Amino acid sequence: MYIERIRKNMLRSFVNSLPYPIKQGAKYIYGVIPPRFRYGKAFWDTYNFLQESQWWSREELEEYQMQQLEKLLKHAYENVPYYRSVFDERGLKPKDIQDFDDLKKIPYLTKEIIQNNLEDLVARNYTRSKLQYCTTGGSTGIPMGFYVEKDITSAKEWAFMITQWNRVGFRIDNRCVVLRGDVVRSTNKGKFWEYNPVNKNLILSSYHMSDETLPNYILKIREFRPDFIQAYPSAITILAKYMRKNNIKPFSGLKSLLCGSEILYPWQRELLEETFQCRVYSWYGHTEQVVLAGECEKNIYYHVFPEYGIVELIGKNDKTVTRENENELGEIVATGFNNFTCPFIRYRTMDMAVPTNTNCECGRDYALLKRVEGRLQELVVTKDKRLITLTALIFAQHFKAFSKIKEMQLVQEKEGQLIVKVVRTSQYSANDEKEILSKMQRAVSNGLDISFSYVSHIPRTKSGKYKFLIQKLSIEFGD
Ligand SMILES: [Zn+2]
Repeated sequence: MYIERIRKNMLRSFVNSLPYPIKQGAKYIYGVIPPRFRYGKAFWDTYNFLQESQWWSREELEEYQMQQLEKLLKHAYENVPYYRSVFDERGLKPKDIQDFDDLKKIPYLTKEIIQNNLEDLVARNYTRSKLQYCTTGGSTGIPMGFYVEKDITSAKEWAFMITQWNRVGFRIDNRCVVLRGDVVRSTNKGKFWEYNPVNKNLILSSYHMSDETLPNYILKIREFRPDFIQAYPSAITILAKYMRKNNIKPFSGLKSLLCGSEILYPWQRELLEETFQCRVYSWYGHTEQVVLAGECEKNIYYHVFPEYGIVELIGKNDKTVTRENENELGEIVATGFNNFTCPFIRYRTMDMAVPTNTNCECGRDYALLKRVEGRLQELVVTKDKRLITLTALIFAQHFKAFSKIKEMQLVQEKEGQLIVKVVRTSQYSANDEKEILSKMQRAVSNGLDISFSYVSHIPRTKSGKYKFLIQKLSIEFGD
C-alpha cells in the first residue's frame, strides 16, 4: 500500500477537494509538468545522492551509516520521550553507541510497544501539521498506527523505489500497468481500470479478475502498451495463468514486471517469466519504511539499501546472523533513516531472511539477502514443534498438480495440523491431491496431519493482499 500512498501524497495538496472530471483534468495538466519540477527537493536530493552512493565502497557506506545513526540517536534522545526513558533506564547516552555492535545496547522496538506507546514515540520538535498518520498490520492482527513526515518521507521513499527500478530500465514517466490491490471506482459499470495521467499509470482492479472479465483486461493492456507492470505477485499470477491456459501471446514492448509487497515464490517467477517473456523484478519493503531491498540487473538476490537504514538479522538466542552464515534464517530487525518524526530503532519486522556472502557482479557493495522468507507467521508448526518454512514445505518442490489449481491457501489452527484450501480447475483429479499430500508429507517427515478443503475462492486481506498461509498459532522465534 505504501506505493499508493506515495502517489496520493504527491497529489494531495493539488487536487484533493475537486470533483472527479476536474480532478482528472488537473492531473493531465500536472502530468505534463517535467519531472524536474513536479517532484520536490526531498525527492531529488535523495535521488541524486543515490546515483553516487550506490557505487561507494563498503567502508564509505558504513561510514555514512554511522553518521546517520549518530544523528538519529542524538535526535531520539533529545526529542523522543520513549527513547529518552529507554536510554535513561539503562544509563546510556547516544555517544555510548560507537559502532554497529553497540547498537545492541538498545532494546528491540516491537509492534506491541508501538501500539502501547505511540504518543511517546513522536518527536517533540515536529509540529502536528508535519505529521502524517499511517497504519499497517499489527502483531495481533489489530492495525498498528504510527507517523511519518508529511510529504517528505514518501518523497524520499519514491526516490529509493525509482533508483532500484532503474536497474531494470525504468525511467520516470514510463507507462505502467498497476495491479496492486487498488480499488477502481467504475467497476460497477463494467470498467475495471482507470488511467492516472500524472504518472502514466493504468490502474487495474485486482478484485474482479475472472474468466469473464480477463479478456477485456488483456485487450486494455495491449491497447495501453505498457513499458512495465507493477503488481502484487498473486494478482499477476492470476492473469498469467489465464494467458497460459488460453495460449495468449505476451504484451510486446514490456520491459519487466515489478513485483513487491508479497513474497514472490520461485514457481511464480518461472510462470511469469515464461508467460510475459520478460524479466521479473522483485523488491522487499514495507509501510514502516525501515528496510528496502531489491534485485539488481545481474541477479535476483535482494540488495539491502544501506542508505535507507541499518539492517540486522537476528537468529536463535538473539545471535546475529552475519553474511558468513549462509542459509541461516534470521529475523529482519531494522533502524530507519528516513523518518525522524517517529523513529524506529531496532524495529522487529517479524519477517525472516537468509543472507549470502556473495559479492554481486553489478558492483554495488551492499549486503545481500538470498531470500526473504516472509513473516514469522508464515511458518508451519509440526506435531513435534518444528518450524517449517513455506519454501521447504511447498516452494522448493515441483508439483505437477499446480497447473490444475487456480488458487491455494494453507490454514493452520492447531500444532501438527494443516488444512489445504484449493480452488480447482476442471482438470484437477484425486491423483493431484495425492501428489500434493505425499510431497508435503515428505518435506515434513510426516509431521503434519493434512486435510483438503475445496472452495470456490480464496478471500483477500483488507488491503487486497493474498496470503498463502493463514497461521492462527502465535509463533515465537529466538527463545
Ligand atoms: Zn547486484
